[in-house]
Amino acid sequence: MAALKLTCLDCGQVNRIPADKLSSGPKCGTCGARLLDGKARSVDPATLEKAARTDDLPLVVDFWAPWCGPCRMMAPAYDSAAGALKGRARLVKLNTEDHPEAGARHRIRGIPTMTVFKGGKEVARQAGAMPAAQLTDWIRTRT
Ligand SMILES: [Zn+2]
Repeated sequence: MAALKLTCLDCGQVNRIPADKLSSGPKCGTCGARLLDGKARSVDPATLEKAARTDDLPLVVDFWAPWCGPCRMMAPAYDSAAGALKGRARLVKLNTEDHPEAGARHRIRGIPTMTVFKGGKEVARQAGAMPAAQLTDWIRTRT
């Protein structure tokens, strides 16, 4: 069975996981962190770029900032979407206040903005917050 490349969101190591092991809690071979924990994880720009470029599982990124009310309102929905879509896509968050250069690199004009990376490139983008049910559906249909 084919192996999927997954970047560890803790240490940045690229792991190869057999497709049939995706559902059995795969861990990073380097640092032991769980690769699929069903949580919306915060990442730094270097990890984001690596995962976006490398991963075989779709990567969803929420570009947000702590001062943004709609971003904070959307956070619980985004977290629950991460759980609902566990094994199908990984959801991460990038704080554009801490990392403005990453927002600029991805041409983020307003937040929250969600992007989906698949096969090494961006395949979808949504600007503005969405209600919980719609959010999970939006991601599901693009991953
Ligand atoms: Zn690791």
